[in-house]
Amino acid sequence: MARGGGSGFGLENLPRIARGKGSYLFDESGNAYLDGSGGPAVFCLGHAHPEVNAAIMNQLESLAYAYRYLFTSTALESLTEHVKRVSGNCFRDVLYSSDGSEAVESALKVALQFFAARGLMKKRRFIARERSWHGNTLGALSVSGFAARRRAFEGSLLDVAFVSAANAYRPPAGGTPGCLASFLASELEQKILLLGPDTVAAFIFEPIVGAAGGVVPAPPGYVTAIQAVCRKYDVLLIADEVMCGAGRSGTWRATEYDGVVPDIMSIAKGLAGGYIPLGATLVTPEISAAILAEHGAYLTGHTFSGHTAACAAGLAVQRIIERDGLLERVRTTGASFQESVRRSLDRFEEVGDVRGRGFFIGIELVRDRRTRAPFAPERRLSYDVGQRAFADGLICYPCSGNVDGMAGDTIILAPPYNARDVELEEITTKLSRAIAGALGDRG
Ligand code: PMP
Repeated sequence: MARGGGSGFGLENLPRIARGKGSYLFDESGNAYLDGSGGPAVFCLGHAHPEVNAAIMNQLESLAYAYRYLFTSTALESLTEHVKRVSGNCFRDVLYSSDGSEAVESALKVALQFFAARGLMKKRRFIARERSWHGNTLGALSVSGFAARRRAFEGSLLDVAFVSAANAYRPPAGGTPGCLASFLASELEQKILLLGPDTVAAFIFEPIVGAAGGVVPAPPGYVTAIQAVCRKYDVLLIADEVMCGAGRSGTWRATEYDGVVPDIMSIAKGLAGGYIPLGATLVTPEISAAILAEHGAYLTGHTFSGHTAACAAGLAVQRIIERDGLLERVRTTGASFQESVRRSLDRFEEVGDVRGRGFFIGIELVRDRRTRAPFAPERRLSYDVGQRAFADGLICYPCSGNVDGMAGDTIILAPPYNARDVELEEITTKLSRAIAGALGDRG
């Protein structure tokens, strides 16, 4: 039976999901789908993990949720302790939310509250990057450099200043790959000076860009360089690790790799691995101290923040990742997986770049490998690849617009951390087949 398209391409005729097991999903017609991208990099332990399900059931049998202003819970406290430890003991507070956009929204608000607590009410502005994605709420959308998703809301978004994306494959005019970090740090500094340091609250960035760039790791030295600029002007550094964090890139925090601790960090997708919606905003002691001393509490949060069963799910997911040494697996197997993806796709002239870290890999398709010119957006090449892969039983994550907001085709692979070697091979084979089909290559 022909299968429908995934989210974003052909919403009608979607297959009806029946169940999941490990790295596979099964629809009601019995078709199997290998989850090569976790949807958008969500399912770090695959589907229907018996221990995670048991932990959730166990929590539900005693209580689903007690309101956070009235009660704390063992699940919440244990998850908080766990997250603080695995993120390197550098954060004091973990503010829970239900998804990535809320986690970003809280990060922005914590930055504003920090300066309000210090009486610096002029520090209200954010600087963000082009080709970035931080979420769909108005604040998170305001700091997102994603033209196609912003367009309908222009005029009601916050007045955010943008600097260039940090992309070694597509460096900004004037920035050569060798000196990209210092070029971009200097651009950020100029932007802060132009706006006035006394007006800028925070700079927000994705340490490894997800949907807006097709997995773009920060160039060497970049994160250290921008942190130095931010510190110089009393501007907070917000790392949005909603997609790249919680172990996805092989270290629990993506910025661990860069040797940097941001002031505020947002996480979501991999935190509870899709078992129950859960996001969080992590705050360093200095910011926490200023806010709590002046205001006594964070002025952010929602009815379901710290939902008990969601925390139980997150705790179970995180404990399994640690117990089974899955970050080590993501680091080592990720490197060989990326190499085998690169090898299997090398025969396509149109595969311009294969990049990423851990189980977070991006493939960029170009019309001309030498000039890196993209395909025309009307061709919808990445979606064609995604649809063909889906029809062949592989879920990957096609993205577009990484070149100029409209043109650009990338495919993201983000398998579960516990995906087996044969499953990784199946991803490689099926993706290669889908790309061949989309390019009209029968060879
Ligand atoms: N930040 C980043 C880096 C993301 O990738 C996403 C989602 N793709 C978000 C924020 C928003 O998360 P959510 O869709 O869970 O609201």
